[in-house]
Amino acid sequence: MKVLVVNCGSSSIKYQLVNMNDESVLAKGLVERIGLDGSVLTHQPEGKDKVIINADISNHSIGIKLVIDALTDSQHGVITSMTEIAAVGHRVVHGGEKFADSVLITPAVMKALEDCIEMAPLHNPPNIMGINACAEIMPGIPQVGVFDTAFHQTMPKHAFLYALPYEAYEKYGVRRYGFHGTSHKYVSQQVAELMGEHMTNLRIITCHLGNGASIAAVKHGKCIDTSMGFTPLEGLVMGTRSGGIDPAIVPFLMKKENMNADQVDNYLNKKSGVLGVSGVSSDFRDIEEAANSGNERSELALEMFAYRVRKFIGSYVAAMGGVDAIVFTAGLGENSISMRDKISNGLEYLGTRIDPVKNNVRGKAQEISVDGAKVKIFVIPTNEELVIARDTKAICGNLA
Ligand code: AMP
Repeated sequence: MKVLVVNCGSSSIKYQLVNMNDESVLAKGLVERIGLDGSVLTHQPEGKDKVIINADISNHSIGIKLVIDALTDSQHGVITSMTEIAAVGHRVVHGGEKFADSVLITPAVMKALEDCIEMAPLHNPPNIMGINACAEIMPGIPQVGVFDTAFHQTMPKHAFLYALPYEAYEKYGVRRYGFHGTSHKYVSQQVAELMGEHMTNLRIITCHLGNGASIAAVKHGKCIDTSMGFTPLEGLVMGTRSGGIDPAIVPFLMKKENMNADQVDNYLNKKSGVLGVSGVSSDFRDIEEAANSGNERSELALEMFAYRVRKFIGSYVAAMGGVDAIVFTAGLGENSISMRDKISNGLEYLGTRIDPVKNNVRGKAQEISVDGAKVKIFVIPTNEELVIARDTKAICGNLA
């Protein structure tokens, strides 16, 4: 069974074709600059040369059509016909409270996704466009929605509610939803496997540290708390997002800087985080380089980032009454030896410490804590596409 995994952004489509017999990736690629000048498809078939196709890609339907053409091309294709694709799995950012698990896309599901647009105005519309484009180009092929929010739906009410008038929740669904759920789910399952334990015996803290960053407390296999909230702005310091701030700063800045709601939203989402503090970049590689050359604000930005992660780890240890494993994943978590070291420096009270030799690893699943540590620390590369492909197979496997 072959599953096409699709992740649509407003001007991009990321895809992977996965052979579910052995979970191998047959091809992957990226359509960029949809609706803009210079739109392009980069297609990487497994074991063959990368292909770059420049074309006028004015909408997502044309993008999906090009992806199918690339996958079935006689030269750089990996299948002979579109009918070999048994199902399509879509990453969907916001499922609200309606979806605690992945679902087969039906007209009723599409209506529910549209109802969630208000809560994820930047993310859900392109996800919906992608589903519609696939339905148009691949009629009859079942599609599945896999939600970033689903894994966090197990949070208890006292963890997901904000202390606002209760009507804000009842009328508008204002509550913590959490994001990166597919990643937190995958790495928590992987770490249990590596430890040779069942999830139900473990308390795990998963740190997804990329451009967007979030952390989750996974107790006995269920997420009980996570740092992102009503939107992906809350919690950790991120590349360009502020993470948690005193909400009174918002009206204060609006008055002082004469900003409207959209401008302040842009300020907190696009101009803040380590970019805002360092004034150098939102990319951690640039900031680490600047800090190493003595740039003090870059050093400060890294310190603030690490401190916030360490504080969240402490609070989740308290929330779970202990911890058995801490996992680092995503671009920074998988690759930054120095950031993992910075964050873990000070966790000795938990009975754990990073082993500098074991920590000298990038993008490989491995324990990095010292031998005999009470709390084990791991690096686990995330694989959201694989979770989407597996869920799609689980839902559609019986439909064929
Ligand atoms: P992601 O959003 O998961 O793709 O992660 C992107 C972030 O990971 C960027 O800020 C990168 O700078 C950071 N990153 C990737 N590789 C490294 C590395 N080798 N060292 C430090 N940061 C890295």
